[in-house]
Amino acid sequence: MTSTAARSETDRADEPLEDFRARARAFLAAEMPPQREGAGPVGMAEARRLQAVLFDGGFAGIAFPRRYGGAGLTLDHQAVFAQEAAGYRMPFPLAVSVAMMAPTLLDHGSDELKDRHLPRMLRGDEVWLQLLSEPSGGSDMAGALTRAVQVGDEWVINGAKIWTTGADQAHYGMCLARTDLDRPKHTGLSMFAVPLDAPGVRIEPIVSAHGGAAHFFQEFLDEVTLPAGNLIGPLNDGWSVAHSLLYHERNATAGVGHGRGYRAESDAGEADGSGVDDLVALARRAGTLQDPAARQLLAEAHIAAVVSRQVSDRVMTGLRIGALQGDWGSLLKLGMGIDAPRRGEIALALGGAAGVVWPTEAGDNLDAHSVRWLTSRSIAIAGGTNEMQRNIVSERLLGMPREAAADRGVPFREVLARRAERRKQGE
Ligand SMILES: Cc1cc2nc3c(=O)[nH]c(=O)nc-3n(C[C@H](O)[C@H](O)[C@H](O)COP(=O)(O)OP(=O)(O)OC[C@H]3O[C@@H](n4cnc5c(N)ncnc54)[C@H](O)[C@@H]3O)c2cc1C
Repeated sequence: MTSTAARSETDRADEPLEDFRARARAFLAAEMPPQREGAGPVGMAEARRLQAVLFDGGFAGIAFPRRYGGAGLTLDHQAVFAQEAAGYRMPFPLAVSVAMMAPTLLDHGSDELKDRHLPRMLRGDEVWLQLLSEPSGGSDMAGALTRAVQVGDEWVINGAKIWTTGADQAHYGMCLARTDLDRPKHTGLSMFAVPLDAPGVRIEPIVSAHGGAAHFFQEFLDEVTLPAGNLIGPLNDGWSVAHSLLYHERNATAGVGHGRGYRAESDAGEADGSGVDDLVALARRAGTLQDPAARQLLAEAHIAAVVSRQVSDRVMTGLRIGALQGDWGSLLKLGMGIDAPRRGEIALALGGAAGVVWPTEAGDNLDAHSVRWLTSRSIAIAGGTNEMQRNIVSERLLGMPREAAADRGVPFREVLARRAERRKQGE
C-alpha cells in the first residue's frame, strides 16, 4: 500500500483543470482496463483491485485531503476525472464506501477514526456500508429502535437493521442507534462504526425479485460491544451524521460531488453524449428501430438523459460557486427516481417480446434489460423514496411548510408508550 505519510502533505487544489485532465488521461490509458462490450459488470473483488490502482496512482479520493490518502484536489477535478474515466472499467461497486461513507467520516469522524480508516477506505482495502434502515421502516430513520448503551468505556448495541446492500463483502457499517430515550427522536441518536465481524453481529441474506446472488442483507446486533472511540460525531448528534450520509448518498446517486464517476450509467452517458446508446442497440437487435412509436420512446429517453445531465451540471456549478446551497442532490435523485423506472419501461417496450424474456445466456443485453426493469424501481426507494425527496425539495429548497408530525419534540420514550397504547386499543 502506498503510504500516505510518503505523500506530500500539501494539497494542491489550484492545479489547472486542463493540466489535471492530461495527467488523468495518461494515467488511465496506462493503468486502467478499458470497458469492453460484453465484459459484464464490475464485481466487488475487481472493484477493490481497481480502487487500489487508482489510489496508488494518486487518483482516489480526488477531493479528499492528502493527509487521509486523497489527492488534495477539488470536486471540479473529480468531475474532469469522471469524464476521462468514461470508457474504462471503474470500481462502481465501491460507490457506497468511497463516495458516501468516506465523505461522511471525513465530515464527522474523530482524527483517530479518520487517520485509521480513510486511507484504507480510499484504497478499497476496507469496505464500509450503511446500517440505517430497520424492519420497522426506513423513511422514518429518526425513529430507529436499535439501542446503544454505555457500559464503562464501551458501547453495547442491540437491535436489527435491514436492506443493507453488500453486507457480505463489507468490513464496517455506520450504525445509527438510540442513545437517549428521554430526548425527542432526532436528538437521542448517535452514529457508530461497527466492525461486521464483531461478536454478536449476524448477517442474513434477503432474496431479490430477480433471483441470483443476494444483494440485500439483514443484520441482527446482539450485545455487540464497541470501544468508546467508535462513536462517530458527538454523542446524541447521530442525526447530523445521518443527514450528511444521506446528503452524500443522494449526491452520489445523482452522480455529483464525491460520487461523480462512481455511477456506471452516468459515465456511459458522459462518454457518448446521447445517454441512449444501449437502448438504440436494443431496438436495433429487436428489429423495432424503424418503428415510429419506438423512435418516439427513444426520443423521450434521450430528452430525459440530456435534461438530467444539464440539471446535474447546473447543480454542480451552483454548489461550487455558492449560488445553490443545501439538499440539491435530492432534486437530482428525485429526477432519477422518476426517470429510471420510466427508462426500464421504455427498454421493455423497445425489446418487444425479447425484452421480457428471462435471462438465458450470460451477457445477452436483451436479458439484462428484463432484469433492469425489475430493479429499476429501486432507485425510487434507495437512499430515501421519491415521496421523501419530494418532502425535502418542498420543505428545504422551496421553503414550503414542514410536514405535520405528531412526535416532534416529544421524548422518544413517550412516543413508544403512545404507540404501544394505540396497538393495545386496536387489539
Ligand atoms: C437498492 C436499495 C438499496 C438499499 N440499501 C440500503 C443500505 O445499504 N442501508 C440501509 O440502511 N438501507 C438501505 N435501503 C433501504 C432504503 O433506505 C429504504 O427502503 C427506504 O428508506 C424506504 O424505507 P422502507 O422500505 O422501510 O419504506 P417505508 O419507510 O415503510 O415507506 C413505505 C412507503 O410510505 C411512503 N412514506 C413513508 N413516509 C412518508 C412520508 N412522511 N411522506 C410521504 N410518504 C411517505 C414511502 O415513500 C413509501 O412509498 C436500500 C433500499 C434499496 C431499494
